[in-house]
Amino acid sequence: MTRFIIVLICALWPVMAEAQDDGFADWLADFRPRLVDSGASPETVAAMLDGLEPDLTVVERDRDQPEFVRPLWQYLDIAASDLRVRNGAEQISTHNGMLAAIEERFGVDYEILVAIWGLESSYGAIQGDRDIVRSLATLAWEGRRRRWAEAQLLAVARMIDNGYANRDELRGSWAGAMGQTQFIPETYLARGADFDGDGRIDIWNNVGDALASSANLLSQAGWSRNAPIVIEIVLPETFDLTSWDPNGARMTAEWSMRGIRRADGADWQADTLMQASRLVLPAGRRGPAFLTFPNFRALMRYNNSTSYGIGVWLLSRRFSGEFAIRGEWPDDDPPINRSQTLALQQGLLDLGFDPGAPDGLFGPNTRRALMGFQRDNGYPVDGYAGRVMYDQVMAAISAAADD
Ligand code: CA
Repeated sequence: MTRFIIVLICALWPVMAEAQDDGFADWLADFRPRLVDSGASPETVAAMLDGLEPDLTVVERDRDQPEFVRPLWQYLDIAASDLRVRNGAEQISTHNGMLAAIEERFGVDYEILVAIWGLESSYGAIQGDRDIVRSLATLAWEGRRRRWAEAQLLAVARMIDNGYANRDELRGSWAGAMGQTQFIPETYLARGADFDGDGRIDIWNNVGDALASSANLLSQAGWSRNAPIVIEIVLPETFDLTSWDPNGARMTAEWSMRGIRRADGADWQADTLMQASRLVLPAGRRGPAFLTFPNFRALMRYNNSTSYGIGVWLLSRRFSGEFAIRGEWPDDDPPINRSQTLALQQGLLDLGFDPGAPDGLFGPNTRRALMGFQRDNGYPVDGYAGRVMYDQVMAAISAAADD
């Protein structure tokens, strides 16, 4: 029976694909007048939309929900690998005059700009070579993020009409991120910077324009030069996580009074103590612990991921020599995968801790529910969904079923 269905699907596939293309033509017919109404020139509308066809591999990528969650320590090995550090240090020595000028103009530490550059595009080497218009039009037609993708397409038209970029230069990732900075079109328009003053914002071929654009983004997001981004810390053994709010910032002086020390053994600087910071335990109570500062929030405007932010920070610290995270990662307690997360959510629900509708994605509601379970059962309240805590929740379900 299964084989019969597969054969049937294969036989119908061309028909289905054609039907999907028909849907694309409908979307195109609907979008074209709106692009015109936005003020795009007829030449640009034609250059963008004439003969455009969807890219079904973009739909595949957009629907791909990986089962496996890569442990942060493995991600960091790649993000701040020896090769990426070495290549970044070379770029720094090649471009040092320009980097100093960008740092001066925008007030953003250049090591961070180079680290972002290294993570976004391997220093310009990997920018994605898909047609951005085609990728975004496919995402708009598919519909999951239609408004977002259409807004990017309107921005693309302005990029072309303003003379910032040519239609055939508009290449990037399947998700619409472009150039050495991997900016989406709206970000390009809002934050792109023309560093060499030639009237174009060339984030594809011009390193100065690319890094100045990143600097402008961070500057507008409130970056503060020479201020801390992340500091690795050590929690005292007795530190009580019961009242910890992962999203709550406190003055660093308050963390210090609660016994938190710097992992490198240095004393707190007076101006650091006066800054607000958040306690972050990306691998739970047993793993390395960090305080993140307002500059880290600015980095989140680039890419709203704690792993990414820690990766950028770690890479930026390694350019100038030996630097490593000191805490031990819990190799025996990797993050749980998607199906385990679904089971965890169902389990927490059954035990009376509401994670919202189970969906296999570990978000703030699931974390809150897990912290409730940890609090009631005497575990460190770190909200970390690793294998160890997963087994504990499953054991509690079995115990409840036996009663
Ligand atoms: Ca330029």
